[in-house]
Amino acid sequence: MGKLFSKSSKTKAQDISSAFDEFLKNVKNERIIPQKYITMIQSYLKRGDTRRAVYVIRDALKEIEKVPINVAVTGEAGAGKSSFINALRGVRNDEDNAAPTGVIQTTEERVSYKHPVISNVVIWDLPGTGTVTFPAQKYPKEMKFDEYDCFIILSCTRFKKNDAQLAKLIHKMKKNLYFVRTKVDNDLHNQKLCKPNNFNRDHVLQLIQDDCLQHLKKAEVADPRVFLISNLDVSDYDFSELAHTLSRELPAQKRLNFMLSLPSITNKIIEHKMKVLMQKIWLEAIIDFVLGIFSPESINDNDEGMFRDTLNKFRILFSLDDTSLRRMAQNLKVSVEELKLGMKSAHLLTCEKGNYQNSTNTLKYFSVSEHILIPSICITKKVLVQVYVLYLVAEDAKTLLKNEKIFRYYVDSLQA
Ligand code: GDP
Ligand code: MG
Repeated sequence: MGKLFSKSSKTKAQDISSAFDEFLKNVKNERIIPQKYITMIQSYLKRGDTRRAVYVIRDALKEIEKVPINVAVTGEAGAGKSSFINALRGVRNDEDNAAPTGVIQTTEERVSYKHPVISNVVIWDLPGTGTVTFPAQKYPKEMKFDEYDCFIILSCTRFKKNDAQLAKLIHKMKKNLYFVRTKVDNDLHNQKLCKPNNFNRDHVLQLIQDDCLQHLKKAEVADPRVFLISNLDVSDYDFSELAHTLSRELPAQKRLNFMLSLPSITNKIIEHKMKVLMQKIWLEAIIDFVLGIFSPESINDNDEGMFRDTLNKFRILFSLDDTSLRRMAQNLKVSVEELKLGMKSAHLLTCEKGNYQNSTNTLKYFSVSEHILIPSICITKKVLVQVYVLYLVAEDAKTLLKNEKIFRYYVDSLQA
């Protein structure tokens, strides 16, 4: 490693420049920094000005931290808006800071719900056009349409006139629109009761999807996007696909925080969260390397604090912190210890502390092909700790999903 540091600054700049190009190729259209910054970074790197290039990366990351993300959720009363907002925020309906469900909205005002962990993500509950007394033409101004990054229209049972009107309004204003058909669990249940002999789950779901698409096309919404969900089981149906589509279609600088705000309810979401976090680790590693903040030579530093902080940060982001685990255990009527079965990060600081010091062992994580490679010149202890803990926590989040499924199965069968 010491040898690499004696490289001429020109070679160092070339190394970083090609590593940055490789990084962009790997992250494709899931980048967390906007094109305007990328162009500047590339141009500085081409000129060999690594310092200016990393100053731009630093500015881009600072912007990401504070950029607001506003998601509007609208639809008629009873469509499942409050339940959906709680699911998006990873909050249970009976928690103190939850949006009240099963309550008919009487106000004509929009209501904001801040994400409990990522505070710049705000979900807005907008009363449907059928709930307000002012004319539909005034709806965009009254509801401050300009402030949202995207709109989600929720609708249950039959497609309604108000849904079509709303979709048309939003589409006309060239805003990102997603149509979500809720309560598909009810539709499936009813169909199964009506036609027990020739019930076909996929066929029923396809019919609902086609019906929504047809109505939206009639409402002159070009290229409509329809997602079928059940707020009672967001790990099933299209909730996860909707979350990915929203993240993909947001401006790049909003992608990291939006993705991190999502509940870790499927393996796909967990992996996606890990990938955006890897991008951040990659970019920070380049900054530290160029500015000489964390050089490989500083490997003997006392790093227990860094290890603990990293672990706590990632556990919160993947809902593996003590408070989240306690809440889930209560909900499933099991002990926290039972919930933690097979999980590694929960015991990391006590039993396995120091494992990460075996950097050769940790390095194998860098060769996982679908993930972003950190250039070897930038692999410092900080990077090793972050990647090691991130992979471990993400694996644990998947284990927790499995455990939750098993325990929920028992809870449900006891209630049946
Ligand atoms: P809002 O008026 O649009 O905010 O709707 P709520 O979220 O308050 O939901 C209205 C009722 O529908 C509540 O009793 C919810 O429990 C129920 N609900 C919401 N979403 C679903 C769903 O996807 N499936 C089923 N079966 N019930 C749901
Ligand atoms: Mg409500």
